[in-house]
Amino acid sequence: MKIGLLREPDFEHRVALLPEAVQKLEKKGHQVLFEPDAGAKAFAPDSAYTENGAVATKRTDILKNAELILTIQPLPVKELDHLQKGQVVVGVYNPLVNKELVNQFKEKGLTLLSLDNLPRTTRAQAMDILSSMATVAGYKSVLEAANRVPRFFPMFMSAAGTIKPAKMLILGAGVAGLQAIGTARKLGAVVEVFDVRAAVKEEVQSLGGKFIEVEGAKDDKDAGGYAVEQSDDFKNRQQEKIQEHAIKSDVIITTAQIPGKPAPKLITKASIEQMKPGSVIIDIAASSGGNTELTQDNKVVNHNGVMIVGNSQISSDMADDASRMFGNNVINFLEILTGENSALKLNFEDDIIAGCTITHEGDLISERIRKAYKN
Ligand code: NAD
Repeated sequence: MKIGLLREPDFEHRVALLPEAVQKLEKKGHQVLFEPDAGAKAFAPDSAYTENGAVATKRTDILKNAELILTIQPLPVKELDHLQKGQVVVGVYNPLVNKELVNQFKEKGLTLLSLDNLPRTTRAQAMDILSSMATVAGYKSVLEAANRVPRFFPMFMSAAGTIKPAKMLILGAGVAGLQAIGTARKLGAVVEVFDVRAAVKEEVQSLGGKFIEVEGAKDDKDAGGYAVEQSDDFKNRQQEKIQEHAIKSDVIITTAQIPGKPAPKLITKASIEQMKPGSVIIDIAASSGGNTELTQDNKVVNHNGVMIVGNSQISSDMADDASRMFGNNVINFLEILTGENSALKLNFEDDIIAGCTITHEGDLISERIRKAYKN
């Protein structure tokens, strides 16, 4: 299959395939066309792509000629005019939110596969870009906090006296939150954790975190492992409990998200005003509005000496390994997307393909997206 690898927009440092991933695909019989400078911000020069068998090609020629077009960030809508029915576009389109763009793909009869819509099943784990990027974000958010907070993370007993360990509160114990717990514990912080899904309590404890309990969360067993929106009564009790712990914390890392909905506001302005000056909040739910009342995406807000870092692009700051993980996920995904002689095979009987195919020949395919677009 002819795979077209495009350069990302300026704000994105990752690339969907590093040269090492290109080499693996070429060995499997694919041909990769790459746009010059595609990997430059991830420290992968054009020469490394060509050495591994890829062919440097103008962007418009890739759009016209590749059978599969690969990016991380969505293609700009004006570029859809270069595409033909039958071509397959693969990327991360956040289809629960980007409805207008998805409708353009649908109206033009194009095939769009969005990797953030893969089912969260054991078989899909090797292709799960959300988990890979959340792993990077969880790790990096702790390092970002350690860099900014004017205190040690571990306890220190020195001739200059004993220094207490930093107190950290992590909101949301999904993939990013769990990674953040592990990283913060390795650095010696004392970690408290809250999540509406009580199912994560044991995982939190096994990583050395203390789980904060609030009774009466809504049942989420039909939500595919994701959280659901909570009742107002629960939200009020939750807010009180979080405030109690937040104001004693040196660092808060917030990761709580609900697919297709604004992120729950878990930390109020009033709570931030009671935090110690010098404390730091890293909000990686910033792209969907953030978990604090003061978060601004991709900005650092200083509120009375408390730093609130809104960063939805945090995995892009670790472009090399983030691109490596993304590329490995793509290679595993292409295994099930190709048949004999590495030709494209769109088998909608396969729950992974059906789950992540958003549009095809004028229809919405993913059941989750079809349901969401009806409402
Ligand atoms: P996510 O990014 O959607 O959300 C992060 C966390 O925030 C979740 O744990 C969620 O419960 C929590 N959250 C939401 N609202 C909250 C609130 N009001 N207060 C506190 N916490 C709140 O989550 P994710 O990391 O993408 O994981 C989603 C699910 O998918 C999890 O159940 C995870 O275990 C599962 N998963 C499965 C696989 C697999 O089997 N292949 C892979 C990865 C993740």
